[in-house]
Amino acid sequence: MDADKTCAICGREAVFYSSYLKQELCKKHFERMLIKRVKSNMNTNKLRSRLFRFGNENNYGRAFLEFMFKDLESKDGEKLYSYTLEDFAISVMKFFLFHEPTDKKIKNKDGFSPLFNVSENEIMSFFRLKKKTLQNAKRSGKDESVLKFLMEIEERRPGGMISLVKAGITLGII
Ligand SMILES: [Zn+2]
Repeated sequence: MDADKTCAICGREAVFYSSYLKQELCKKHFERMLIKRVKSNMNTNKLRSRLFRFGNENNYGRAFLEFMFKDLESKDGEKLYSYTLEDFAISVMKFFLFHEPTDKKIKNKDGFSPLFNVSENEIMSFFRLKKKTLQNAKRSGKDESVLKFLMEIEERRPGGMISLVKAGITLGII
C-alpha cells in the first residue's frame, strides 16, 4: 500500500480510490460512501422502507443487495434488480456500437436497479475488506468483449464507465 495515500475525508490511510468520487478513501469512508450512494438512489426513487425481493441477474449485485437490505427481504416485495454499473455500461455501449436497443432500464414497471452507478470493482473491494470473496459475474462472450473494451477505457480514464452510463440516462437509453 502506498503510504502517502490518505483518505480525502478523514486523512487516515486510504484503501480504495473511488473513481466515482475521484477521491482516495479509507475503509470506513469507502464503505460509508458506497452505502450512501445506494440509499440515495433508493430515496430518489421513493423506495425507502418497503419490502423487496432481489433479482439474480448479477451475483456481485445480488450479494450487495442482500447485504444492504437483508432485513427487508420478502417474497411479495418490490423487485430490486441486481444489475451493476458494468451491466448498464455494456448496454449503452452496445446501443452505440451495434444499434442494439437495450432491454435493461434502470427503472421499469417491474422494478428498480439501485446499483446502476456501483461497479463490480467497488462491490468486490467492499466484500474483500470483509474477508469475503465473490464469484465472477456470468456474461455472454459478446458482453465480455464489450466489457474488456470498457475496462481498457476505464484504466486510462477512471470514471469513464460512470460518464457513459450518465450519458445513457440523459439520452433515455437505459
Ligand atoms: Zn476516512
